[in-house]
Amino acid sequence: MQETRFFLFLASDFLLLMFKMNYTKTIMVVDDENSIRQSLSDVLKDEGFDVISASDGQNALKMLDTNTPDLIILDIWMPVMDGTEVLKVIKKTHPDIEVIMISGHGNIEAAVKAIKLGAYDYIEKPLSLDGVLLTVKRALRERDKRRGEPELAIQDITEQKNVPLTKGYDKKIKEGSVSASRLQRTIKKSIVLGGQGLHSGGKTGVILSPLQPNSGIIFTGLSSEEMIPAHLDYVSSTDYATTLKRGHASIMTIEHLMAVLHIYRITNLLIKIGSEVPIMDGSATDFCQMIEDGGIEKQDEPVDDIIIDDIYTVGNPAKGRYISIEPCPHLTIQYSMDYPPPIGRQEASFIIDAPEVFKKEIAPARTYGSVKDYGKLEEMGLAKGGRLSNVVLVGEDKVINTSLRFTNEFARHKILDITGDLYLLGRPIKGKVVARMTGHTENILLLRKIAECKKC
Ligand SMILES: [Zn+2]
Repeated sequence: MQETRFFLFLASDFLLLMFKMNYTKTIMVVDDENSIRQSLSDVLKDEGFDVISASDGQNALKMLDTNTPDLIILDIWMPVMDGTEVLKVIKKTHPDIEVIMISGHGNIEAAVKAIKLGAYDYIEKPLSLDGVLLTVKRALRERDKRRGEPELAIQDITEQKNVPLTKGYDKKIKEGSVSASRLQRTIKKSIVLGGQGLHSGGKTGVILSPLQPNSGIIFTGLSSEEMIPAHLDYVSSTDYATTLKRGHASIMTIEHLMAVLHIYRITNLLIKIGSEVPIMDGSATDFCQMIEDGGIEKQDEPVDDIIIDDIYTVGNPAKGRYISIEPCPHLTIQYSMDYPPPIGRQEASFIIDAPEVFKKEIAPARTYGSVKDYGKLEEMGLAKGGRLSNVVLVGEDKVINTSLRFTNEFARHKILDITGDLYLLGRPIKGKVVARMTGHTENILLLRKIAECKKC
């Protein structure tokens, strides 16, 4: 009897130990500010993590000799040895530890730099404790996945949005065997890209991170506090670019990046950004490359395409300015424009749901603007980043700063914009769009019509 009890005691202890080995993660908090160390430690302990802390970089590195945490939350601005230097050493000596950088003097450039040096993420102070917890859980989940360990469950991010990726009106797809092309997708690893904002003019950048199935495309700022789903419901402005807004946070010029996500069928992604998506060279080529470099991961859940089964029109074809969408088994977009020279008459039409076609024919087409419009944009405080290299400038009688990549580059760029705006319905779309002389405003009106009828 005695022996059995002893055995039971050992067995339960052993199970507890196994449980701890598998599930209790250790987090190190490194910050010279006592109050931040304390509040982060408290909130992490409440969540069941083991927490150790250090008040400077050198101490933190010394502690790593005897105690290896799963994750380190590391302040950038610290006396003696700054966080970036500490990060470099950690990534050299303990590449497996995830590091989340925090900073009170945050900007997206510093964030891009930290990620390039191997940090998992970068969060701006004042810290939103919810934002930190969410990032910690995402980081640990990625680490578990990489190491083949059972993944930490997180529901938090899906609770922040309500954009379902399956709607059920294509039930056969969900119930039958799901073909690989119908699976939800994310990227294999976090990727970054630095650049300039077209409208705000400031240096900006973008950090893309994988998300679990049914999360959707979500934009967030440096503090990771406000999450803005890339959905029609959050469109706040369509003047020259599409802007999303939720609470105090807003993100401008999302359409080129959204077009790429649409065509590569990336359904779950966290996009951390300053206030504007970088314009790059005015086209979507760099975003295609970024997604291809990151690698695409197919996930175990299906996504239902939005199948257009009726005709929806905004504007009046008889008056020459309209956009319509009609049933078609492939995403097809036809755009035409007719302006006085030098733009003149341009037309383009492509079946674009194959990434190879999109990357070759549509993605390279750049943003353009007339010199006259450009003056107006500057008056409005927009287009500050529109330097000679990232927008095609159209003068009185010719393009003045570059040579065109296609004779109908402007019509192709309009197709790029439409592709991006269409993805604000939350899922890839199948239908044929015919548009003439329209812009973001009409695109969004068309989406509202589709959304009203299809309840998406
Ligand atoms: Zn555009």
